[in-house]
Amino acid sequence: MSAIKALYLIALSMLCFTASTTALASPCTMGESTGPRCFEPRLVPNFRVLLVAYGANMTTADVQRVEKLYKERFDLSTDGKIHLEVIDRIAVDLAPGTRDLTELRNKIKGTDSQRANDRLTRLWYYYNSDLHKITAEIQSELLKAGMKSALDAADAVLVLSGPQFEGIGIATGGYALTEQPSEIAWGLADGGATEINTDERLVDELLHEGGHLLGLDHTSQHCMDDKLSLKEREECCKTSPGAKDVMSYCRNRASVAGPNYFGYTACTKDYLEKVTLPALLNGGLRPFQEKACD
Ligand SMILES: [Zn+2]
Repeated sequence: MSAIKALYLIALSMLCFTASTTALASPCTMGESTGPRCFEPRLVPNFRVLLVAYGANMTTADVQRVEKLYKERFDLSTDGKIHLEVIDRIAVDLAPGTRDLTELRNKIKGTDSQRANDRLTRLWYYYNSDLHKITAEIQSELLKAGMKSALDAADAVLVLSGPQFEGIGIATGGYALTEQPSEIAWGLADGGATEINTDERLVDELLHEGGHLLGLDHTSQHCMDDKLSLKEREECCKTSPGAKDVMSYCRNRASVAGPNYFGYTACTKDYLEKVTLPALLNGGLRPFQEKACD
């Protein structure tokens, strides 16, 4: 083969490679950004997710166990009208880097062992990072771990997160984060505690945060009005039709154990079926409820 022909073939193959990667990349999936605004059209109404444990001291086998329960409960919750499709799952270590823990070590009691170091590292994120930085960091680590094609195929990345943030779970862009473990009351004199969430509790949060990514707002939101006392909130929750929905703050998370769990109820199911399902099939802008369910 002549040198010119060889060069021509190399150039052609590079062109093909560029063309094929351009064809694969979609602004509607997780490969190009952390917050796509649209869904890719599809033949079956599947919610395609990449499940990730990030610095959460979990193995891929742990993630698979959570995945199984999440799929079961998701499909039951949507009456099988929308299926959860887990594109891939992976456990990833925290990004390497120097995190100065000195200040935290002085501030939080009982923090001189390696276990405490891990704990302080999780809390370091709470004080030194934010949600935008955490998701960008996870995205970068996923790319390093060879997950580009999974990201290209996924509608969302659901993360069991060692890095702590405000709240137990949170959804932003195409990311939903659930703390695992959760650091509790570290500001108290005894230094608080590390709470390892059960699989059932993790799935409860995945259903909730994943629900936001499918367009659901909180149900019974009016019961959480700042002006209401704790007692008034309880009373309101007793009569709100959406109180037992997984999207409600009325739900008693402590009761999520064994076979007991919260799912989507009448109003949220209706939205998922009438609005989210067609948006998944036809593609286009990701929906979000204009009016939350009661
Ligand atoms: Zn929420």
